[in-house]
Amino acid sequence: MPPPLDPRLAPGFKARPWWWEEAEPPDRDNVMPDRAAVAIVGGGYAGLSAALTLRRLGHQVVVLDAERIGWGASSRNGGMVSGGLKVAGADLDRNHGRERAQSIVEAAAASFPFIEETIAREGIACDYVRCGRYVGAWSPGHWDAMAARVDFLARLTGLPAEMVPKSRQREFLGSDLYCGGMKAAATSSLHPGKYARGLAAAAERAGALLVDEVRVQGIAREGSGFRLATTRGALRADAVLVATNGYSLDRRGTALPWLARRLVPLNSYIIATEELPPGMIDRLFPGRRMISDTKRILNYFRPSPDGRRVLWGGRASFRAATAEETALRLHDTMVECFPELKHVRLTHAWTGFVAFTFDGLPHIGVQDGVHYAAGCQGSGVAMATWLGHNAAMKIAGAANERFALDGLSFPTRPFYEGNPNWLLPFIGSWYRIRDHMDRMAA
Ligand SMILES: Cc1cc2nc3c(=O)[nH]c(=O)nc-3n(C[C@H](O)[C@H](O)[C@H](O)COP(=O)(O)OP(=O)(O)OC[C@H]3O[C@@H](n4cnc5c(N)ncnc54)[C@H](O)[C@@H]3O)c2cc1C
Repeated sequence: MPPPLDPRLAPGFKARPWWWEEAEPPDRDNVMPDRAAVAIVGGGYAGLSAALTLRRLGHQVVVLDAERIGWGASSRNGGMVSGGLKVAGADLDRNHGRERAQSIVEAAAASFPFIEETIAREGIACDYVRCGRYVGAWSPGHWDAMAARVDFLARLTGLPAEMVPKSRQREFLGSDLYCGGMKAAATSSLHPGKYARGLAAAAERAGALLVDEVRVQGIAREGSGFRLATTRGALRADAVLVATNGYSLDRRGTALPWLARRLVPLNSYIIATEELPPGMIDRLFPGRRMISDTKRILNYFRPSPDGRRVLWGGRASFRAATAEETALRLHDTMVECFPELKHVRLTHAWTGFVAFTFDGLPHIGVQDGVHYAAGCQGSGVAMATWLGHNAAMKIAGAANERFALDGLSFPTRPFYEGNPNWLLPFIGSWYRIRDHMDRMAA
């Protein structure tokens, strides 16, 4: 007999994205050609957005994915759309000088209007809503740090952002867990699975060929172009874009090891609750904003687009763990914030890889003639779409000016091959201690 389920897991609990109930990445039975003008490796938002732009500019394009088109982070994420604001937090002035730093921040912020324009132009039905965000401060010190940046964020995005004292928090969040927070208009919500499907459909309508289940295992120069070694034989291409992000390193074959050495793949986890009684979501999420917090071990959560469930995300584990184990940990964290969800069960739990970089910036560029676009720091719905577009403009020679995230020095660390797993438990413990100390200092 199978062991009884933990009472926090609903009967029929599934270890796969809730998003896939409505928009699972479909199977395609397209055959890989042996030649392409541009070959794109990785069929997430970055690869698909690049394919769409290249087709609009008249280039023949093939997108290859080792699994299914849209199968990676692009159909698993929280669906919170923000415009590269994490970039604005990186230590930019010191590393790049004031002027360059400013152009980097502006280039990142431009991802937000770009995704809005893409969704509208292509008519992508993905439950897109300009709902805004509330960021809960984990400690009074975190509140002060946000307050010091709030006007800058408002100026940068051109949309209002304001600090909220704890006494007004319940206007924005049905919880007293945080010490007040920040309310910002420049955030939207969407259904990531529907967006991935819609972007793929737009690229196909424009004439791109999308091929599933082809893993690229190496890329070598051949004549004036490239030869891609794949699990389905060789493909020759005039130009190549690698957009494999958090899935770049794989023992079954890595397209561009140079890129994998510059990315730190981390698992992010999400749970979905069962359907809640009517009215509960509006009590927990007045205004139905996207919510995140300032903890080092970040929580991010939201109502589902149909307003019936809570989707709660975070970094539940820093070591290998099953979906059930991480689900229960996230359930506990969720109940700390919303005690009234104590007896609410979970129907789904899943994970996916995000990619961090050592300088905290997303990058596009060229290595040994091969283009790449990656490193969205866990905030890539808008950014990956934007990086893919900019990489495509560069490949097509259509960019009027240099994109500020293009060709920046892209650091790695000595002996780092792309797998941070041995280090993560230490980082996890350190972050937990720091979060605890910040709260205690309050
Ligand atoms: C759980 C989770 C929650 C998140 N929440 C948010 C959020 O709320 N808001 C936000 O902005 N961002 C969020 N993100 C991040 C966001 O999803 C990503 O930044 C974005 O989807 C990256 O898109 P991509 O196209 O670069 O990569 P992916 O969508 O990861 O696509 C990469 C693809 O490359 C393929 N691939 C890898 N290697 C090969 C190879 N050798 N050959 C062929 N194909 C290969 C993979 O199969 C994969 O499909 C979240 C991510 C996760 C995992």
